[in-house]
Amino acid sequence: MLKEHNKVSNSLNFYGNTTPSELVKTYGSTVYVYNEKVLRERCRELKNLVSYKNFAVNYSVKANSNPEILKIACEEGLYADAMSPGEIYVNLKAGFDPKKILYISNNVSKEEMQYAIDHGVLTSVDSISQLEQYGELNPGGRVCIRFNPGVGAGHHEKVVTGGKKTKFGVDPHLVPEVKDILNKYDLKLAGINQHIGSLFMDGSKYVEGVQSVLSIAENFDDLEFIDLGGGFGIPYNKLSGQPRLDLKELGQQLDEVINNWVSKYGKEIQFKIEPGRYIVGECGILLGTVHTVKYNYDNKYIGTDLGFNVLIRPAMYESHHDIEVYRESDKPSTQYEFVTVVGNICESGDIIAKERELPEIFEGDILGVLDAGAYGYCMASNYNNRLRPAEVLIQEDGSHRLIRRRDTLEDLVRNFV
Ligand SMILES: *Cc1c(COP(=O)(O)O)cnc(C)c1O
Repeated sequence: MLKEHNKVSNSLNFYGNTTPSELVKTYGSTVYVYNEKVLRERCRELKNLVSYKNFAVNYSVKANSNPEILKIACEEGLYADAMSPGEIYVNLKAGFDPKKILYISNNVSKEEMQYAIDHGVLTSVDSISQLEQYGELNPGGRVCIRFNPGVGAGHHEKVVTGGKKTKFGVDPHLVPEVKDILNKYDLKLAGINQHIGSLFMDGSKYVEGVQSVLSIAENFDDLEFIDLGGGFGIPYNKLSGQPRLDLKELGQQLDEVINNWVSKYGKEIQFKIEPGRYIVGECGILLGTVHTVKYNYDNKYIGTDLGFNVLIRPAMYESHHDIEVYRESDKPSTQYEFVTVVGNICESGDIIAKERELPEIFEGDILGVLDAGAYGYCMASNYNNRLRPAEVLIQEDGSHRLIRRRDTLEDLVRNFV
């Protein structure tokens, strides 16, 4: 195995007792590989983010909902967020206590709300009309409200979820109307939440958002919790030396803001965060195979099976993922060169890395797409009638275990009537 192009995975002993080529031979290409040790480490880092005692980490299940990943997060003492009845269902199946699940709903039907109520899961609503709908369904019940603090943050327009130009949350100017509806249906406001966006690498915007939600919280005098949202970024450009989010500094800032607020409020209520990507992003590497190397005019293309049906982030958000190169033979790469790495889908936007400087790549090489644990498999599709990959867990003892089988051709026609 070529040693010099596996710096990140090698430093983590990511593949345990096995190798990328063995995994591809065993489970097919492409395949998502997750490392349990890295996953547990991230859970613990965030659980220890602040020294404030009444603190919980809600894992945002939409980032990766493989049941085995959820079980590990649950074992680590995390709570869970759900964005749909389906996510409530998988959370419950993975063993999360319904009291530890928060259903963060957005424009949902009565039936969807009723599903949460029937399963003892607290719902967060994010408009006046949905609060009214909730009141009709569950008078006298507990509810949570998502506010939009008017600030947003994120790596791409599509993932900024706070601020005046997004669909999410209740405008804080509507607090009087909120109170009227709470009274009308005798609802108990258990908590408020926000989520201003995804992938911040500098905590200052987050802390700014926290201050806004805390000032909104002052309007309500008997809250049980405040959920500050997710968005904790990971360094997708590790190979170019991008630093990690400074959790120590962020934790200290949060501690200060929380402690000040709590002493004014007079009650040590619970604070929650809702990270998805930070928990699972870096524990996943997507493996694919190089089938073609060619020039089109002046551009060198590396043709792989890593289509956007398998990992859509680069095509959808122009996201960067670092790439490692694995080779079974000892044939050396004699140079670094600029190449465009593409998939096998019939669209020219099917690009996983554009004009990227990589060591010379040959047909038969295996590529490892780093930091693919979040918004990877869960956004994969059968577009072009391609099969979604298997998912494999590298356990703490270094052994590997299949945690979702690869699609079969029969799966493609399973739902036809
Ligand atoms: C997506 C989402 C999260 C998680 O975002 P990350 O960037 O993965 O941390 C948290 N809360 C809500 C409401 C979300 O929609």
